[in-house]
Amino acid sequence: MSKQDLVVALELSLPTVTQNLEYLKRTSLIDSSKKITNTGGRNATAFTYLKKAKMAIGIYITAHHMNGVAVDLSGDVELVIKKQAVFDLNSDSYLRELGELVEKIKEEAGIGEKELLGVGISVPGLISDDGETVIYGRTLNFTGRSKEEICKYIPYPCRLVHDSYAAGYIETWKDPDVRNAFYISLSNSVGGSFIVDHEIYAGDTQKGGEIGHMAVVPENGELCYCGKYGCFDTVCRAGKLDEYTNGNLEEFFHRLGAGDERAAALWDVYLDHLASAIYNIRILFDCKVILGGYVGAYIGDYLEDLYQRVDEKNPFEDKAEDYIFACRYKKEASAAGAAIFFVDEFLSDI
Ligand SMILES: [Zn+2]
Repeated sequence: MSKQDLVVALELSLPTVTQNLEYLKRTSLIDSSKKITNTGGRNATAFTYLKKAKMAIGIYITAHHMNGVAVDLSGDVELVIKKQAVFDLNSDSYLRELGELVEKIKEEAGIGEKELLGVGISVPGLISDDGETVIYGRTLNFTGRSKEEICKYIPYPCRLVHDSYAAGYIETWKDPDVRNAFYISLSNSVGGSFIVDHEIYAGDTQKGGEIGHMAVVPENGELCYCGKYGCFDTVCRAGKLDEYTNGNLEEFFHRLGAGDERAAALWDVYLDHLASAIYNIRILFDCKVILGGYVGAYIGDYLEDLYQRVDEKNPFEDKAEDYIFACRYKKEASAAGAAIFFVDEFLSDI
């Protein structure tokens, strides 16, 4: 943008804009080496922000993996490194591996000491408001564990982030048009997050959006990992589909696409439950609904069917195709989202 464009867009005076541009140049956050070619008159200086001036790292730890990403100031994932590692916070070598993964990402993404904003650790569990403690971690049995323990070998600013919050947040962060949204993560367990006015709504006790434990099967429901019966998790976790294909979700969708009857029957039941949940969310919050997680990555081909099922329930005029979306981060949204909290912090400080 030219300086004049900035003055107009920001509704600030020329001296104020000049002063701020000088500051951003001094701090190496913007570039002014290019010109905007004008037809007639002098070519104006083009000011561009340097998206790699600062970077953040995000790691998503699950039962069998630790996946890491480097994220720039635009929220773009610059590097992904995936690693198999069996979750075990009591093992010093596991914690060391986590530290080594951070160093490897830092090195391979070429992030200097001063450029690294911090490391977000995304975990499948509920996290205290300050990002310090796991307040509910039943899927990996790590309730009560602290950031200090988990980040023992990470010598940078760290914070723990609830995986569904991270994934939902980055989905909406990238799209300024999405002001209010409910993100549903359809992975080995079902999670969710509610974004209101671009902010995560965590609720009074950090459980806001825990859609996985909504009671949806009133009678004879399956046992959920939370200890209750008939939760949404028991009907819409990815396992409801890939139990047919030995845990291979790709194979499930391959068979579904090839017209396999058993796969089609499982999918039919699954989509009905999902449609009910989406309908209920829409009725409650009148917001967009984003489908993510393992199943969300495949949902694109089946959206028409889903729209129809949701529209059939809806007494209002709004059309499902206008508010239901597949996630845009098909992979590593939870890792990238954990990193974005540091980018946010940096941008608001600036
Ligand atoms: Zn449950």
